Amino acid sequence: MIKLKPCPFCGGEAEVERQGTSRQSCIISCTECGCRHEGPDEYEQCGYQWNMRDTPTTSLARHKLLWQAEAVETAVARGYRSRDELAGWAEHLRRQAEEDA
Ligand SMILES: [Zn+2]
Repeated sequence: MIKLKPCPFCGGEAEVERQGTSRQSCIISCTECGCRHEGPDEYEQCGYQWNMRDTPTTSLARHKLLWQAEAVETAVARGYRSRDELAGWAEHLRRQAEEDA
């Protein structure tokens, strides 16, 4: 079993949120900040992808872009389409950031 590296964003511990199956993707998430990586159904591959994100030289700007991409992906996955829904999602993320600060 591949050993998961700490979260690339906050350094928190990573855990397997959902083991993949032939019908479902594998999800690895951070126990601290909740960021997630959804990858192929095979845990080894998904874990490998998660670990690839952990590059110490990664710039803050790159982290920010990855975060934004994830936020958009989550909004898509949740089926948000309207302006109000997306604005609400942005507001939710902002509130969460303030609570964590
Ligand atoms: Zn994290």
